[in-house]
Amino acid sequence: MEKMLNEIIKKNKIYAKDGRVTTYIPELAKADPDALGIAIYDLQNNIFLAGDFETKFTIQSVSKVIILACALIDQGKEIVFSKVGAEPSADAFNSIVKLETRDSHKPLNPFINAGAIVCTSLVNGNSGYEKFNRVFKTIKTMANNPTIKVNEQVFISEKFTGNTNRAIAYYLKGANIINGDVEDVLDAYFKLCSVEVTVKDVAKMATIIANNGIAPWSNEAILPVDICKVLKAIMMICGLYNASGEFAVNIGIPAKSGVGGCIMSVVPNKMGIAVIGPSLDENGNSVAGLKVLENLSKELDLSIF
Ligand code: GLN
Repeated sequence: MEKMLNEIIKKNKIYAKDGRVTTYIPELAKADPDALGIAIYDLQNNIFLAGDFETKFTIQSVSKVIILACALIDQGKEIVFSKVGAEPSADAFNSIVKLETRDSHKPLNPFINAGAIVCTSLVNGNSGYEKFNRVFKTIKTMANNPTIKVNEQVFISEKFTGNTNRAIAYYLKGANIINGDVEDVLDAYFKLCSVEVTVKDVAKMATIIANNGIAPWSNEAILPVDICKVLKAIMMICGLYNASGEFAVNIGIPAKSGVGGCIMSVVPNKMGIAVIGPSLDENGNSVAGLKVLENLSKELDLSIF
């Protein structure tokens, strides 16, 4: 397996040149565009690593999956989906346009920024810090890694440049979709995007979802099975923003990308996969990471369809 992974990484490194590292969060511009690494963690507790698997990166939008999981556990499906939709979006991940034109003003889904900000507001906690901590603890448990930290430079960078997210959050507050202090909710959201991980951490998080909520290393139930079903469904239809349909066609597994260059993928009942490649395409997805997953999906026949 590792031989095949090394070959896939080597073959696809070249595609980094077709994209760019994100710069709208200034601190993320420092990432190495040519880094490319992968980790696979299967249900039999085997881990397979290749390429730049030690590279640290911020989790960014991959955290939206865990934010949704916590919101669903804390409020239930009915309340969560009364405030955020479950439909794919053809607009950019940070688009604001549909918030005003949709009758309900509800964000289209939990994985665009607007939807994740709503879900953050729904997580239990009396303050932004408590909400952050609730999700952060779940991330550390899912990754089985208590040493995971927030990258404070990225957090500060996001907080001081995140004016589009700020506009989205204040609009949602005006439309009575989020309650509470907007800056507090935004702080929790920015901090969760700034959690620093490696592909090993993210592959383990994905494995828990692949294994219906049970950690294969301890047999402990970390997430309820019905919530894992919702996570997989939303990852399948919304996980790669406005490129989710193409991903379903070419790769065919539930996944979630982030602008740090990570793509977390879940192969139900088989394995969790994480790739890192900070050079992004115009939709904000890792260019080389997508190629790696495409090769891997063909090689191992991973598509769920
Ligand atoms: N922190 C980023 C933002 O809010 C996350 C977006 C992403 O990864 N697509 O803009």
